[in-house]
Amino acid sequence: GTFTHEWNTPAFSGKTSFSTGLFINGEFVDGSEGGLIEVINPTNGTPITKVSEGTAADVNTAVVAAQKAFDTVWGLNASGALRGELLNNLARLMDENKGILSALEALDNGKTYSWAHGTDVTFAISVVKYYAGWADKISGQTIETDEKKLIYTRHEPIGVVGQILPWNFPLLLFTWKIGPALATGNTIVLKSSEFTPLTALFMARLIKEAGFPAGTVNILTGFGHTVGEALSTHPDIEKVSFTGSTLVGRKVMEAAAKSNLKQVTLELGGKSPNIIFDDADLELAVGWAAHGIFWNHGQACCAGSRIFVQAGIYDEFLKRFTEHARAIKLGDPFATETDQGPQVSQVQFDRIMSYIDSGRQAGATVHLGGDRFGSEGYFINPTIFTDTTPDMKIVQEEIFGPVGVVIKFETEEEVLKLANETVYGLAAAVFSQDLNRALKTAHKLRAGTAWVNCVNQLHPNVPFGGYKQSGIGRELGEYALHHYTNVKAVHVNF
Ligand code: NAD
Repeated sequence: GTFTHEWNTPAFSGKTSFSTGLFINGEFVDGSEGGLIEVINPTNGTPITKVSEGTAADVNTAVVAAQKAFDTVWGLNASGALRGELLNNLARLMDENKGILSALEALDNGKTYSWAHGTDVTFAISVVKYYAGWADKISGQTIETDEKKLIYTRHEPIGVVGQILPWNFPLLLFTWKIGPALATGNTIVLKSSEFTPLTALFMARLIKEAGFPAGTVNILTGFGHTVGEALSTHPDIEKVSFTGSTLVGRKVMEAAAKSNLKQVTLELGGKSPNIIFDDADLELAVGWAAHGIFWNHGQACCAGSRIFVQAGIYDEFLKRFTEHARAIKLGDPFATETDQGPQVSQVQFDRIMSYIDSGRQAGATVHLGGDRFGSEGYFINPTIFTDTTPDMKIVQEEIFGPVGVVIKFETEEEVLKLANETVYGLAAAVFSQDLNRALKTAHKLRAGTAWVNCVNQLHPNVPFGGYKQSGIGRELGEYALHHYTNVKAVHVNF
């Protein structure tokens, strides 16, 4: 099929048309069983289009194509310079199509056009450029032993890698995955989320236009229990990189272990603490705390969903934080004045509302929000809970919506214990003007990222990933390259 849309947004107008098939071996094809997945507009619950439903058989076809590309035109057959050049081509094409990519993201996911444009797409382009720069700088070491031996290491691509994406940052996480994999010479079979397949399909077109050889990148739309599982179990895929929930991450790792012991990178959930000491710059802390939990409608793995505030400033913080949250303007993601669009799907809407109910029933206070906004689409008002206890579900589990809990604490020791009392360890933040105290706390938090006097800062060259059940491995930065190469030591006697 083909998706055609006439845009008429304040920032962009024009027509887009692209294929909704599977992208295998450089061509768009229908799924082998002819199934279709309906894509829903979260702003009003109506269908946008239908995309092909891939199957395990389609994964097989894509893996064959990817293996052939790896053995003939990519992998050790493409120079680093060529790989970098093609990635740079892709970045340039993304830049030329920034308006379309942003509009697709807003339509499909419900995030605001202005955030998609200013953050998601901008960041995605910089990630592709960053890894383009690495492509011709992948090299090993020589290692000294004795005089009659030369030993050196090679960082070789793994081969065909499987990549599985969630729906919260469909385009951005697409680039986090393909960037380091392509820079190091792997070929890819990628599955987008069944809820947000549009930007990945548009990217397929740009990947082709950028000149990547057929089979280098294969993009499948489809469900997790079919396409996702086939990627995790496939005997010819030696590495799978997954971003999504901890629940599914566990399944992917199990499948990887049971099939061919493939390597895994897992970027999973979070319940990030945000600690605000009484010597913090209050205005700054309030703004960042709001951004921490309400950014992307709370659908961020690193969302600062547990806000710990020291007793001395608790009342004043809560007052200002509430004002801040109340001022967030919900509405059409394409309207320039909108701060917050709908949640991504009916499933997520229901899931978040049931968490809100569970908080109420457990005896927590709904200090703000707790209800839907408007009468259509999946909008939820920014919600603040107080009077919680550490064992409540809303304090322990990832809600993945605009729902924060504000918790009062007295001492540094107490807050560290509470903050670390979670199965997750993705990110954490500390606010204090005493750098000693802030850094001491940052170092004791069990999380892969610790922000001091800021939140949600991400950069292409800075590693991101989890401690504990938030994941295995790192994305972004030089670290991600190591997850896409096998190291070979060559010993030469002379
Ligand atoms: P999800 O786990 O439900 O789905 C993620 C992907 O896995 C989807 O493409 C889905 O189709 C696929 N999938 C489902 N079942 C599968 C199976 N059995 N085998 C293989 N694949 C399967 O997650 P979601 O709801 O799409 O995304 C939200 C979650 O992602 C949150 O928990 C969030 O914290 C996490 N996330 C983490 C990061 C990070 O970097 N740590 C970033 C973004 C999102």
